[in-house]
Amino acid sequence: MNEFVERRLTLRWQQAKRAYDVVIVGGGGHGLATAYYLAARHGITNVAVVEAGYIGAGNSGRNTTIIRANYGIPEAVRFYQHSLELYQTLEDELDCWMMYTTKGIIWLAHTETAMRAERARSLLNLACGAETVMLTPQEVKALCPQLDLSGGGRYPVLGASYHPAAATARHDRVVWAYAQGAMRLGVHVLQHTRVTGLLRDGARVTGVETSAGPISAGQVLSAVGGNVSTLAAYADVRLPIRTHPLQAFVTNDYEQAFQPILSDTELLCYVSQTERGQMLIGAEFDAQPSYSLKSSFSFLQSSAAKAMHLLPFLRNLRVLRQWTGICDISADFSPILGETGVEGFLVTTGWGTWGFKAIPAGGELMAELIASGRTPPLLEPFRLDRFASDQTMADPGSTGTH
Ligand SMILES: Cc1cc2nc3c(=O)[nH]c(=O)nc-3n(C[C@H](O)[C@H](O)[C@H](O)COP(=O)(O)OP(=O)(O)OC[C@H]3O[C@@H](n4cnc5c(N)ncnc54)[C@H](O)[C@@H]3O)c2cc1C
Repeated sequence: MNEFVERRLTLRWQQAKRAYDVVIVGGGGHGLATAYYLAARHGITNVAVVEAGYIGAGNSGRNTTIIRANYGIPEAVRFYQHSLELYQTLEDELDCWMMYTTKGIIWLAHTETAMRAERARSLLNLACGAETVMLTPQEVKALCPQLDLSGGGRYPVLGASYHPAAATARHDRVVWAYAQGAMRLGVHVLQHTRVTGLLRDGARVTGVETSAGPISAGQVLSAVGGNVSTLAAYADVRLPIRTHPLQAFVTNDYEQAFQPILSDTELLCYVSQTERGQMLIGAEFDAQPSYSLKSSFSFLQSSAAKAMHLLPFLRNLRVLRQWTGICDISADFSPILGETGVEGFLVTTGWGTWGFKAIPAGGELMAELIASGRTPPLLEPFRLDRFASDQTMADPGSTGTH
């Protein structure tokens, strides 16, 4: 961890107790946010977050930091709009600077079919409370002067949808801020403690087996990102989840002149600029399910080629760093939240390639469910039992999904 963490944050590490009201497995954004809201909104502070590595070691510290609400189905738009609004006041709530910056996201269309999809997206977004408007190619160029409207002669820009509230925030600061907020209120965060099994009393889950011994719990929440299938199997729960790697890379610094986030559903890639000036490029998740954190040259080659069609200036930059996270992709590309059918065992999963933006709402609503035993209306569509009742939530309109 860096100087910011050591000097500016007050992380109060504690010795593990033998029992807690709630044990949350996974110290990523979702686990820590749920712990924070349990303590802050519901006064439930006898909570432990058990993390195998260090907090933010998973995808919450590896993502491309995009926050937006311009999804393709009403349930998702409302959920992500709520999350975006929580993000807008989060720095004040947690008293921590997270570099939250509103940038706007441009979603390019190269064909009439794509234009229809973007028009449908913008109408649906507006109807559900998220501002998204259509842009002409000239309006796109005004917002993003570096864009080649001919798409390198292969991908001409016919128009775009534009979601002005889209933002980025420094991902590890979000994790650390939630950890600090939760720990100030008495939550224990136990790093370097791996959960290796679940304690059972009959069918009920009563705690966790860890590398440091057993810990009993009134309720156990799995927030382990791409490792969820293993954890759920300890409770005999089979989830409609596959784990796929997702890669990204940054270039060396470019003059601080690239304002918006540029996304492209047809090319399946997106580009933004970090605060340091690096160009940050992400794409679709790897087709082959895997737990491998290895980055590949084929990803680098294909996503660099796609991005250069749109932004020719990228040719003059060098690749500085490439990395991978493993994503919990659900069968319908929507999250799975709440009860599992096994008493005492809940999940927050299926966050796939899009869960960073969901951290505040996911944490707040999971905390409400754990505290009250009732599923909040915004979570209701994302329950696990939707798959059994044929109520799947396929969202066709976002990069990172088909
Ligand atoms: C390259 C990349 C780009 C992305 N870009 C975006 C983006 O721009 N916008 C967006 O919204 N989302 C994005 N995402 C997705 C987003 O990062 C994730 O959906 C989100 O961070 C998931 O958070 P989480 O808390 O559920 O999981 P994680 O952050 O993965 O945390 C899970 C934690 O559980 C721990 N753990 C696992 N097993 C155990 C165990 N047995 N015992 C104890 N601890 C365990 C892990 O060490 C880890 O720290 C991206 C992801 C990647 C990889």
